Amino acid sequence: MTTTVSVLGSTGSIGTQTLDVIEHHEGRFSVMALAAGRCSDLLVAQVERWRPEIVVVASEPERDALAARIDRPVEVLVGPEGLAVAARSADVAVNAVMGFAGLPVTIAALAAGRRLALANKESLIAAAPVVARVRQTPGAQIVPVDSEHCAIHQCLPEAGRGEVRRLILTASGGPFRQASLEQLASITVAEALDHPTWSMGPKITIDSSTLMNKGLEVIEAQALFEVPIDQIDVVVHPQSIVHSMVEMVDGSTLAQLSAPDMRLPISYALGYPQRLDVAFGPLDLSGPMTLEFSPPDMERFACLGLAYEAGRVGGAAPAWMSAANEIAVEAFLAERLSWFGIAEVVAEAMERFVQRELDDVDAVLEADREARDVTRTILQGRMDA
Ligand code: MG
Repeated sequence: MTTTVSVLGSTGSIGTQTLDVIEHHEGRFSVMALAAGRCSDLLVAQVERWRPEIVVVASEPERDALAARIDRPVEVLVGPEGLAVAARSADVAVNAVMGFAGLPVTIAALAAGRRLALANKESLIAAAPVVARVRQTPGAQIVPVDSEHCAIHQCLPEAGRGEVRRLILTASGGPFRQASLEQLASITVAEALDHPTWSMGPKITIDSSTLMNKGLEVIEAQALFEVPIDQIDVVVHPQSIVHSMVEMVDGSTLAQLSAPDMRLPISYALGYPQRLDVAFGPLDLSGPMTLEFSPPDMERFACLGLAYEAGRVGGAAPAWMSAANEIAVEAFLAERLSWFGIAEVVAEAMERFVQRELDDVDAVLEADREARDVTRTILQGRMDA
């Protein structure tokens, strides 16, 4: 039996690594759909290589550009509706679309009772109340494509959630784990972009330096595993070998260990509940290995505390906080805000938060837009000072 897969966001890092995993298991998986924003050389090459039935691009000019470059019969669709069609057409939808553009993928896949291999952050951070409803569809299933959530998914017992005491997310601690307060106050964009373990885009790298990335993952874990946020802890683990843990009521802690390679969570999500035989991921235990764990410094990494607060408030608060953080990080990257300023601006934006019902995607987008406006106003005030 071939499992059909729609790889949405196919030209990004998760998308290309997903195709890499599928290549290891040709015959077991086939590519039903590919989606990317633009008609790039890479997308054209992927269409030639994988021969999907559906390709989705962001706009009509991109569709025309793609149609002119491929001579095979393929349905080229456009925008959110195209993404939704692609998401429900396969057994597994891999949502590696960046930002809010990924919401239609999550909603369409779950509403069609499909398995969603979820790498899109906004789905669970900003739109958790919407996702919680559509997730009730019979057959619908979310398997996370994120090293921490994948680890917890593997360690959580199928039954007996009452036996779980807490989830423990590990964090590399970012590049400034050991920096002094003076050093932190004068961090440059270049320093913040230099991440020790994973190579990622600028926004997520900054989030990893402030631990906001971990805070967002705590919120995601709360939504994904339906566990109260105060039963989710973060522990700093610089080696990035233990990807997360689950502590049981009897004091046992279950952990998932592997080399830090995103193809492992991708393989897990594609093959679940079976495991795929892959050539990457195993630990090298032929030499000494040290694993360190320490609690995060909540004072230095104020963003982590802000994320917990947003998760506790719930509703639209995570969407609001995440949007405020995006604007603050943008200002930091443009050298208009200091590294400590990121948390200060997000805290101020949270003070102006107004709760609202998130009953559909439009309400999510509205909360996001408002938070961005509020944060820009806060930034302007600081800049003028
Ligand atoms: Mg992660």
